[in-house]
Amino acid sequence: MIDEARFRALVTAAAGTISSHAEELTALDSAIGDGDHGYNMKRGVDAVLGDLETIASKPLPEALKAIGTKLVMTVGGASGPLYGTLFLTLGKELAAAPDDLVLAPGDLAGAMAKAVDAVAARGKSELGQKTMLDVLYPVAEALGQNRGGAEIAAIAAAAAEGTRNLRAIRGRASFLGERSIGHIDPGARSSALIVEALAGALT
Ligand code: ADP
Ligand code: MG
Repeated sequence: MIDEARFRALVTAAAGTISSHAEELTALDSAIGDGDHGYNMKRGVDAVLGDLETIASKPLPEALKAIGTKLVMTVGGASGPLYGTLFLTLGKELAAAPDDLVLAPGDLAGAMAKAVDAVAARGKSELGQKTMLDVLYPVAEALGQNRGGAEIAAIAAAAAEGTRNLRAIRGRASFLGERSIGHIDPGARSSALIVEALAGALT
């Protein structure tokens, strides 16, 4: 059951972890990109928090779409449109679910699977290319397997860590070729942080 209070708690938890890890995300992006991922994401979550009252008053699918739109408008870079697509698609898919307050686990898993595919389509990217998809796909799969929050959080954290050994094929890090190996992907790390925060706030 995701009522307004719980929705606020979830958004606040996700935004809080992004803000408190902004320096780390930017440092990861400095190693293999242009060093703006933490700032980009912090700008986005601050904008969402600034509008939280309006956003949280909407039905869940509309609230998710509003977050997506906000992220597209404020995050910028490659990650803004991609995170925007994720939340816009989650909202669109959940709008088709029977009840917007009582979420069946299958609703969320199905919506997440579609949303991650939409991110891949938007980024012309796939699993294994050292991007946020390397976290989002395993998380979608774990949701589909009805795993618990703690387990999903652990899967996300391990998946982000696993991007260290990958060579970047998409995004700015791909310009480094082999030299991208040995660093965690910033977008994978921000995705894992969000998933861990949401899982923590739900349990
Ligand atoms: P930019 O690369 O434009 O500076 P950010 O630094 O905010 O944007 O975001 C970089 C992150 O975006 C990467 O770490 C990666 O996870 C993700 N990313 C970049 N391009 C793609 C893509 N084509 N598909 C999926 N994710 C991508
Ligand atoms: Mg960057």
